[in-house]
Amino acid sequence: MKIDANKVVAINYTLKSDDGTVLDSSEGKSPLPYIQGTGQLIPGLEKELEGKEVGEKMDIVIAPAEAYGEVNKEMVFDVSKEGFRGNEELKVGMQVEVEMDKGKSIAAVTKIEDDNVTLDLNHPLAGMTLHFNVEIMEVRKASEEELSHGHVHGPGGHQH
Ligand code: ZN
Repeated sequence: MKIDANKVVAINYTLKSDDGTVLDSSEGKSPLPYIQGTGQLIPGLEKELEGKEVGEKMDIVIAPAEAYGEVNKEMVFDVSKEGFRGNEELKVGMQVEVEMDKGKSIAAVTKIEDDNVTLDLNHPLAGMTLHFNVEIMEVRKASEEELSHGHVHGPGGHQH
């Protein structure tokens, strides 16, 4: 069975950056299940998996535009430390929840200078070329129930 829209696919994967650092991996976990064509994976990965079958192994390189996007400089901004009252442990590299117009978002603290804190709302993998090593472990038709819920049921998916 080939991978196309509304198939449940389970993959084992390792994700590396340009310099070979492992960013994420399914190793030691159950294969990652998703429904093809629903935007659960980044666009570049769905595109490369389309038409493939169980047992295929692939090395896939995905440019930022087809992954988590380019870094948007407008999503990097400075705020006053005052806004973090009660949070004494503010450190570069930590993630904080910030109140935005559209609700809460997660931002990374990228710089602290005197009373000034620089926050970055970009996805941590924005601007990065991603190197995936993927093995297709399962391909099956999604059930009506899975399609109406918009997610996979069973191992590695939702249990209900
Ligand atoms: Zn469900």
